[in-house]
Amino acid sequence: MTAITIDQFSYAYKNNQKVLDNINAVIEEGSFTAVIGPSGAGKTTLCLAIAGAVPHYYGGSLSGNVLVNGMSVRDTTMPDLAQTVGTVLQDYETQLVTMTVEEEVAFSLENIGLDRGQIATCVKEALAKVGLTGFERKEVSALSGGQRQRLVIASVLAANPKILVLDEPTSALDPEGTESIYQLLSDLNKQYSITIVVVEHETAKILPYADQFILINGGKCLQSGYPAKVLTYMWKHKIYTEAIPPLWQLKLTLEDKTGFQFADWKNEDDAASELRKLIQKEASISA
Ligand code: ADP
Repeated sequence: MTAITIDQFSYAYKNNQKVLDNINAVIEEGSFTAVIGPSGAGKTTLCLAIAGAVPHYYGGSLSGNVLVNGMSVRDTTMPDLAQTVGTVLQDYETQLVTMTVEEEVAFSLENIGLDRGQIATCVKEALAKVGLTGFERKEVSALSGGQRQRLVIASVLAANPKILVLDEPTSALDPEGTESIYQLLSDLNKQYSITIVVVEHETAKILPYADQFILINGGKCLQSGYPAKVLTYMWKHKIYTEAIPPLWQLKLTLEDKTGFQFADWKNEDDAASELRKLIQKEASISA
C-alpha cells in the first residue's frame, strides 16, 4: 500500500515564485524515507504539502496533487489530515506550549473529543513510545534538547497517526542526541509500522536508518529510491556531491577504479568487511 503519492505536483507561494516543479514520488506504507537536497531546494515546502499547510495555511497556487492514505491533500482539511499525518516542524520548540510533560501531550488531544480517562491512557502510551515514562510531572523547561524533541514527537504520536513527517529533527542536537532521535524513529517505524518521512540535509546522519531517499534540487525531484541508487546517481551526475558521505565517496571511487561492486555500506563495519573482500580478491588475482 502507498502512504503518500506525489503526483505531478507543482507549487508557488503567494509571491508566485515556483518552488516545487512537477514532483513525482511514491512513499510506501511502513517505509523510512529521507528527503535530501541542498538548502532552498524545496524540502520543507514538500513536507508542508504532505501536512496540508501548503496550500491550506500558506495559500499560493498549485497543480497536480498530493495524496495521503488516498486522501487528496487539497480537498482535506488540516485537522482531518492531522489524524493521519503527524508533523514535527523544523523549529519544533515552538510546538511546546504548556508547563509539564503530561500537560503537553494531553494538550494535543484536547480537541478530538476524548474523555479524561482516554486522554490519560493516550498520554501514558505516547510517553512510553518515546522513552519518557517517569517524566510526566517534569517541567518542559527542565528537559534537555533531545528530551524536548522526544516530547514533541510524543505529542504528535498521541493522536495515533500512521505517518510521521519531521523537518530536520536533529538540527539543534549534538551527535549523540541525533543518533538517539533517529534510533527512536527507526524503532517507531519497525515496532508500530509508522511510515517515517524525514527532511535531512546531512545525508550521513540518516543513511543507517532510511530505506528510501528522495533527492530534491531546485524544486525538482531528481531521483528517488534505495539510498544506494540515489547516492550513486548524485556521484555519477556530480549533483550535490558534498552531501555524499565520505565512506560512500571512498566506495564509489574504488568501484570506479577497480570495477569491483561492493554491497551496501550503511556504516563503518559494512565498509570494513566489504574492503576485506576487495583485498582478498586482489590478493587471489596477484597470487
Ligand atoms: P529547503 O527546505 O530545501 O531549504 P524550502 O522549501 O524551505 O527549501 O524553500 C524553497 C524555496 O521556497 C526557497 O527559495 C525559499 O526562499 C522559498 N520559500 C520558503 N518559504 C516561503 C514562503 N513562506 N514564502 C515565499 N517563499 C518561500
